[in-house]
Amino acid sequence: MGEFDLIARYFTRRPQRALLGVGDDCALLQPRPGTQLAISCDMLVEGRHFFANVDPESLGHKALAVNLSDLAACGARPLAFTLALALPEVDEAWLSAFSRGLFALADAHSCELIGGDTTQGPLNICITVIGETEGQPLLRSGAQVGDEIYVSGQLGDAHLALQGLLGRITLPADLLDQTRQRLERPDPRVALGLALRGLASAAIDVSDGLVGDIGHLLKASGVGATLEAAALSPLLGAGAHPAWPALAQSAIDHVLAGGDDYELAFTAPVSARDALTRVSGHTGVRLSRVGRIEAEPGLRLVDAQGQAVDHSARSFDHFAPAP
Ligand code: ADP
Ligand code: MG
Repeated sequence: MGEFDLIARYFTRRPQRALLGVGDDCALLQPRPGTQLAISCDMLVEGRHFFANVDPESLGHKALAVNLSDLAACGARPLAFTLALALPEVDEAWLSAFSRGLFALADAHSCELIGGDTTQGPLNICITVIGETEGQPLLRSGAQVGDEIYVSGQLGDAHLALQGLLGRITLPADLLDQTRQRLERPDPRVALGLALRGLASAAIDVSDGLVGDIGHLLKASGVGATLEAAALSPLLGAGAHPAWPALAQSAIDHVLAGGDDYELAFTAPVSARDALTRVSGHTGVRLSRVGRIEAEPGLRLVDAQGQAVDHSARSFDHFAPAP
């Protein structure tokens, strides 16, 4: 099967919102009047972001999910995406499962594939996603002193699964399955991001670990913060598993260092509390209040008694020198 048959068979569908999709030199999109385009790009490299033997349907899901998560963090509504794909060989079973996972998530968010590039090479998946924002988008830079810090859903389970798959921790089979879902099939918080417009003062998606990602938000906003360990520890889903105590793992380390969570961390004024409770109700996403924005720069962690706790766990940086 040649490149063009492959594109036609696995990656070409009738355009929905786009004026022109796959097949010409460019795709054409018409933004709605009064909207801005929000654009983000994420690359997934075999051996770096996923294991060579990962289920291709999950990989198709995740490749798009990580991009939709960036739109969610900006409060943007997904519109369309492009797919640049390097494939070592034409493996039709793989392509069929990959495209199934990809399009299932794309359809769930009405986000259509409008073009891309296909080449032979080591497996590499690069998606550029395009969304639209109406009015004020969510940015990293709006946090104000006195705002409260929230995170959505659960944190740390994907990191735990990764440690399990790398053989660094031995997890019971059912706990590995449960946490692996979080690693391989993240659910981008698109509806939450849209609902936070006008409520949140700043937002970021948690992809490289809470400490590092909150750090980016604080830096962009020119503020500092204190996080409460007692509010963070329960966010690890695995902590509720009966085998957890015997594993001798620190829940908060997984929550803080994490990575691959694809939840939203955001700030909002105290006056937004009730509205956020309603947002949590109608989106079905748990929102936890985990800290407060302060004028003093830096990120502090305190225990239930208000005593400082060390959080030297670092977030993931592809180019950081080895510790
Ligand atoms: P070009 O000659 O402009 O590089 P190509 O020959 O690479 O275009 O691709 C032909 C058409 O197929 C283009 O519309 C391109 O956007 C689309 N396309 C190529 N690869 C993919 C892919 N993996 N997914 C979706 N569309 C693709
Ligand atoms: Mg090309």
